[in-house]
Amino acid sequence: MTINEVDVVVVGAGFGGLRSLYALRQLGKTVQVLEASDGVGGVWYHNGYPGARCDVESYDYSYSFSPELEQEWVWSERYATQPEIMRYIGHVVERFDLLRHIRLQCRMEEARYDEQAGCWLLRCSDGSQWRARHLVLAVGQLSAPKAPQYPGQSRFAGQTIHSAVWPKQPVDFSGKRVAIIGTGSSGMQMTPVIARQAAHLTVFQRTPNYSVPAANAPVSPEEDARVKAHYRQRREQAWNSPTGLGFMPGKKSALQATPEERAQVYEAAWNRLGFGFALTYFDILLNQAANDTAAEFIRHKIASVIDKPELRDKLVPKNHAFAARRPSVDSGYFQAFNRDNVELADVREFPIVEFTEKGIRTTAKEHEFDIIIFATGFDAFTGSLLKPEIVGRQGLTLRQKWAAGPVTHLGIGTSDFPNLFVLVGPGSPSLLSNVMVSIEEQIDWLAALIRHMDAEGVVEFEAEPEAERAWVEHVNERAKETLYLTTDSYYNGAEVKGKTRVFMPYSGGVRGYRRFLRQCAEQGYSGFALRKVPLASQVAAVTEQASA
Ligand code: NAP
Repeated sequence: MTINEVDVVVVGAGFGGLRSLYALRQLGKTVQVLEASDGVGGVWYHNGYPGARCDVESYDYSYSFSPELEQEWVWSERYATQPEIMRYIGHVVERFDLLRHIRLQCRMEEARYDEQAGCWLLRCSDGSQWRARHLVLAVGQLSAPKAPQYPGQSRFAGQTIHSAVWPKQPVDFSGKRVAIIGTGSSGMQMTPVIARQAAHLTVFQRTPNYSVPAANAPVSPEEDARVKAHYRQRREQAWNSPTGLGFMPGKKSALQATPEERAQVYEAAWNRLGFGFALTYFDILLNQAANDTAAEFIRHKIASVIDKPELRDKLVPKNHAFAARRPSVDSGYFQAFNRDNVELADVREFPIVEFTEKGIRTTAKEHEFDIIIFATGFDAFTGSLLKPEIVGRQGLTLRQKWAAGPVTHLGIGTSDFPNLFVLVGPGSPSLLSNVMVSIEEQIDWLAALIRHMDAEGVVEFEAEPEAERAWVEHVNERAKETLYLTTDSYYNGAEVKGKTRVFMPYSGGVRGYRRFLRQCAEQGYSGFALRKVPLASQVAAVTEQASA
């Protein structure tokens, strides 16, 4: 069997993988992207459910590497829909001639580090094999869908769909009785859209979620021109903001403001800022009492748009701090429950007992459905990283190495796995940031590292165990300063039963994180061992000398 040789293999053809391909090809490297699906786009390719749209503003959720691309692409809405994002991805792929480096329907099943040669050997589902100095895992943090298994699930005679494996053919909801299980961002986005089409919709809720209004709107030609005239400044602002969204935290504590001032500030932010609402005061995510003021405001807002008094108490979130688990940015989610064809099923009050041939039986009653949708989320951060067999030094697998939770230096590399780059991985701002900013930041840093390696004749880079211990400790210390640890969420591994509970993203912000990346590079990539001869070859040479 032929082994294909390239400089870099990138796994995944989503936003991260495509940006990696572009940046590394610019370096003059031969790059091969391996993508398991039959199309590019990563999570956006699969999450085609009705109402799917980005909850980061379109102008910020787009690549910044090409001013020409920035200027020529026209976003039609403040928050782009999934089809529009897919059109953007298609445009990028074509404009930069990326497709010829991408192999579709090719799942990397095994990656094994050849310690003597200092390169990775990959085996894929289509039988192809690859050898590459560098392996970039751009597999996404929310790309391993998960769904509960209920007794009798296979008995259900209707259609079941997962939000993250949405069929490519349109699903016709007209006249149908539909169930949505899960009320995270996906469930909240699809609810109002499906409610308008279906005969009846039942939303199964376990935890009521906070949400702020998207205030989505078409982008006028004037606004487009205004943004494009100052795009660089807008990017600078995003790069220098804590979340990469361009919002700077308020200078004041929520507790320093009078109730009247707070009401004014929150009101002004409510229909305008989306996620920026969480930054109106600097301590909303740092101090419970400060958070309570924002949470109370949101609860009041949510309750005020729900007509049915009996639903208000159920839909209003109360048992966790606002934004301690990811809130949603919605377009009419709560208002959808004012419709006569929409019903809420609270699974904490009446748990799901089983699926039946006709639908779902809870402890209260049997609901009959034609379509059941799982909007139950993902095995976040590590799900897709730990799916393939990734074998580092001495037969150690990544699953073994991360059994007690992911360990990385700067969220990028892990010891015993040289020349492996985890893009937007655990230990980096990833899901606590505008992921587009984080992707570009990290991949440009990797490109600079590879340039440095080439210039210095370095063939192997590897995180040092001491550096990764210190980084994990730093990630934990920063998390302790926040309210993220006060509730269960996918940030801390609570979304999958039995998953190790550790806090995974870096909560120190995009700007702070960039300082660490810069410092690391300026100090000759401190915390990473850079070797001109692979470690194993050095050891072999010493052993040979000793025995000669
Ligand atoms: P999610 O936020 O993890 O939400 C999953 C939902 O399913 C939660 O309500 C959860 O309840 C519920 N659930 C899980 N298992 C259940 C069970 N056994 N019984 C009943 N309910 C169950 O997943 P998601 O909505 O797919 O969103 C995931 C992330 O994707 C978002 O946080 C966001 O980062 C990203 N996303 C982004 C966009 C965008 O616009 N950029 C859009 C959609 C999603 P509990 O809360 O009780 O666990």
